[in-house]
Amino acid sequence: MEKMLLKNGKIVLADRIITGDILLVDGKIKKIMEKDHPFYEQAIDLQGKYVVPGFIDVHIHGANGADAMDGTTEALKTISTFVAKHGTTNFLATTLTSTKENLENVLAKAGELQNKELDGANIFGVHMEGPYFDVQYKGAQNEKYIKPAGIEEIKEFLSVKPGLVKLFSMSPKGEASLEAIKYLRSQGVVVSIGHSAVFFDDVQKAIKAGLGHSTHTFNGMRGINHRELGVAGAVLNSDDIMAEVIFDKIHVHPETVRLMIRAKGVDKIECITDAMSATGLAEGNYKLGELDVYVKDNQARLVSNDSLAGSVLTLDKAFKNIIELGYSIFDAVKMTSTNAAKEFGLNAGEIAEGKDADLVVLNPDYSVDMTLVKGKVKYKA
Ligand SMILES: [Zn+2]
Repeated sequence: MEKMLLKNGKIVLADRIITGDILLVDGKIKKIMEKDHPFYEQAIDLQGKYVVPGFIDVHIHGANGADAMDGTTEALKTISTFVAKHGTTNFLATTLTSTKENLENVLAKAGELQNKELDGANIFGVHMEGPYFDVQYKGAQNEKYIKPAGIEEIKEFLSVKPGLVKLFSMSPKGEASLEAIKYLRSQGVVVSIGHSAVFFDDVQKAIKAGLGHSTHTFNGMRGINHRELGVAGAVLNSDDIMAEVIFDKIHVHPETVRLMIRAKGVDKIECITDAMSATGLAEGNYKLGELDVYVKDNQARLVSNDSLAGSVLTLDKAFKNIIELGYSIFDAVKMTSTNAAKEFGLNAGEIAEGKDADLVVLNPDYSVDMTLVKGKVKYKA
């Protein structure tokens, strides 16, 4: 048995904060103690810092010079190590539109590392972002590889490793896409609407077919008009959809995030990064797949048309941004961890006995002091 005591932390539970100790045994939270402070040889004094559930990022492409589309386990490991420094304990390696061969290779590489212990965050699966999108809202997705949904191809993607693809972003355009949504749902995959030009009524049909998630809401989708609510309006208006948001204060205005929270509530929003490979690196020119991107002033944009090309956001910043918008630390925990854990069935997202010890220790300014993945310290400032 591997035992460790985290002592003297400000432990953020679902509805209250207690000062006390957390006993970790074999990677799980064994006991939360407010009063008795037992002695263990393996103990870390948290010096009154916050402990919150580790962040979960269901949409991240890359960081620190690596991209999931590099198609190597090295790249995925680089991302894992980097995001742990920013409090992320679980993530979905996220693809871009590409050839079937490339995508299958990326799936195979991610499959090798899925739920294996790494030097950083755990890769619990893959988010396939594309290739079934609408060119009109392609954003930074390479148009060359965009095509209509094909159920046979989806079957091949899923067969690379059953249980690997957890989230599939697509545009629900036409009958074939509705069949694709039903099939994905039958295989336990969460289906997300993204890079989509469809209309409000189309989204309702997709929800009936099983659509349950929205990819970087407001970005890469038909926006709201008061006579045609579009995709964004359908997402805000539905309790059936978990809405991703890139809360970097660039992709959406902070007050748009407030509007989302007012419409959907804090249980239906997930902060994601959509981070690309330049995250954590200096300003300059980079690649996103085959496309040229430049990074300046915390923004990543396509060289060709200045369109936003993913972000350089980290989830510790998103966490802080929620609090700065006036929401509580409990709300910030939900939108960076709990909601995603519930949606994808992870035994995490909450500090409670029996849960995985995926934890982040935060300084008073919410910067990351320490990250633990399944009870092991993966980062210490
Ligand atoms: Zn993305």
